[in-house]
Amino acid sequence: MKVVMVDLTREYNELKNDIDKAVSSVINKCNFILGEDVVKFEEEFGKLNGSKYAVSVASGTDALRIALMASGIGAGDEVITTPFTFIATTETISQVGAKVVFADIEEETYNIDPKSIEKKITPKTKAILPVHLYGHPANMKEIMEIAQKHNLIVIEDCAQAFTAKYKMGTDWKFVGSIGKCGTFSFFPAKNLGAYGDGGLITTDDEKVANMIKTLRNHGSSQRYIYETEGFNSRLDTIQAAILRVKLQKILKFTEMRNEVAKKYEKALTGLCKTPVVKEGCYHSFNYYTIRFDSKETRDRVSKHLTENQVANQIYYPIALHLQKAYKHLGYKEGDLPVTERIQNEVLSLPMFPQLSNEEILYVAEKIKEAVKVKTI
Ligand SMILES: *Cc1c(COP(=O)(O)O)cnc(C)c1O
Repeated sequence: MKVVMVDLTREYNELKNDIDKAVSSVINKCNFILGEDVVKFEEEFGKLNGSKYAVSVASGTDALRIALMASGIGAGDEVITTPFTFIATTETISQVGAKVVFADIEEETYNIDPKSIEKKITPKTKAILPVHLYGHPANMKEIMEIAQKHNLIVIEDCAQAFTAKYKMGTDWKFVGSIGKCGTFSFFPAKNLGAYGDGGLITTDDEKVANMIKTLRNHGSSQRYIYETEGFNSRLDTIQAAILRVKLQKILKFTEMRNEVAKKYEKALTGLCKTPVVKEGCYHSFNYYTIRFDSKETRDRVSKHLTENQVANQIYYPIALHLQKAYKHLGYKEGDLPVTERIQNEVLSLPMFPQLSNEEILYVAEKIKEAVKVKTI
């Protein structure tokens, strides 16, 4: 049996009528840039997420870059973030002129560790950029407490975590509605995927929202009047129309992902560490990531899965602080020990709402075969 990481055709087949209709409606109107569907999608997204403002942009990477700029982060500032993430999280910090500062991660959730954040704070620290990795919310209670104490801005990278929830006090909040800004990606394989690139920023701050709108459109809120230099970073109307159809189903799709996760957990118990969901957290399961007690076992399982046509991926095999791109920052092996251990032990399995029971059991069976092989 062949099992892929994400099968987008199953979802399309389910929604084909509505999506085809939405796309042809945009084409019939030829309103391709900042059309009606963009405005409506932003309203609907903000409402669902519990955020006052939702402003769409061209990608999750642009969402990060523009959120950082609109929050006033730039040259001379330091931004504390995790090295266990996709490079978009950090390249955008450098691109706005700020310095990336890496903190270590938590053993259980693989998210940035608040204790490590505190150790990295200097007079130049301006912001904390937690990533809700794989869809598990970062420890926002402690992160917000640190931010308040040191007067720091929090920008949440929610690229993998749309519809994940976190309990702040007595309130369940969607990620991206807790910090100053939340940034989202509509890359096709994310929880809410477009049919191309797309992104969005949430905020409750009107000034920041207006600045984002200006920046995404060449620094202009009135045609040919420029308040600043900006970008060409708009969400296509066609993408917004597709996203509106999918947005209506997103909560159900996340529940289905949670069901898949439960089935995986049952089938994998005793074979590996399955994902922990901390109390007060609701996981969006963009990825289902398991962990082994050594790199040898992880690599053996990965190889066996690949040989049996079961897709699998390591997110992320080399943490960012050890990459050539960040050599100039001067980190060395041993600086962030939890990250450096976890990168050798994790493995992500096929995960999407429509993954079938047969597929889940097949994946588990192949993992069992590889785990049970005795090494000499
Ligand atoms: C996907 C992703 C991004 C970037 O999103 P794009 O839409 O591909 O630009 C940023 N951060 C994380 C953690 C991601 O997984």
